[in-house]
Amino acid sequence: MNSATPFQVAPFYCLQQLVYHTNSQCPQAKSILHTQHRVGMGGKVACLSCRHLNRRKPLKKSRPGQRLNQLVSS
Ligand SMILES: [Zn+2]
Repeated sequence: MNSATPFQVAPFYCLQQLVYHTNSQCPQAKSILHTQHRVGMGGKVACLSCRHLNRRKPLKKSRPGQRLNQLVSS
């Protein structure tokens, strides 16, 4: 299973909000009271903040100079 970020979680929502959340670091998600927490999407749209947070890729070390040595033998 590939999780984009450690904070990405299963969809949850709050009855008082128009969106569902998928990231535990979302400010709006954090404001949800425990008693109003609902699991699922609730027929709502995805929270943009969560989508943004989830899209933030983990630090990946990519070296531009690193290449596979291709042995080209004719
Ligand atoms: Zn959110």
